Amino acid sequence: MDYYSNQISRLIEEFSRLPGIGAKSAQRLAFHIINMPKEQVENLAKCLLDARNNVRYCSQCCTLTDRELCPICNNPDRDQKTIMVVETPRDLAAYEKTGKYNGVYHVLHGAISPMLGIGPGDIRLKELMERLQGDVDEVIIATNSSLEGETTAMYISKLIKPTGIKVSRIASGVPVGGDLEYIDEVTLLRALEGRTQL
Ligand code: ZN
Repeated sequence: MDYYSNQISRLIEEFSRLPGIGAKSAQRLAFHIINMPKEQVENLAKCLLDARNNVRYCSQCCTLTDRELCPICNNPDRDQKTIMVVETPRDLAAYEKTGKYNGVYHVLHGAISPMLGIGPGDIRLKELMERLQGDVDEVIIATNSSLEGETTAMYISKLIKPTGIKVSRIASGVPVGGDLEYIDEVTLLRALEGRTQL
């Protein structure tokens, strides 16, 4: 097992703990790092630490940011009365890439899954309901079209209905079980424009 010095082995081991990194990739990354200019490695290490130390949840939409408010919530040109509910910051990024959505977001950080034991209290739903005490015109539910995403959408719409705020669900042009972040921009836009009121 110990073909390499202890420090290289440790580096390989750390990389292989990352998602999607198998033994071969871990080895390749470790050797790449060792051959990189020292300054670049220091930059990378600093980036990792800075991100880990400073990134937190936006106090309004719960996406990841290094400020109190993320740039989207902080932007006066965005329509703060339209809130799109997504599962992850990656889904938010997918919609931002279309450049056509001018509202704000709410990131749940997950979806309700009875199978995995994830209940409504385990995602950022309470924060969403608190936001709805303010001036909100529409909540667009853009959770994935997986079983969990649909369960979550139904749960949220039932919670919001009594408040009288308009609730809509993005069209299911999005393939079932499809992760939002892998869907192309045209499909995303079509799903958004074709949303139906719940
Ligand atoms: Zn925000």
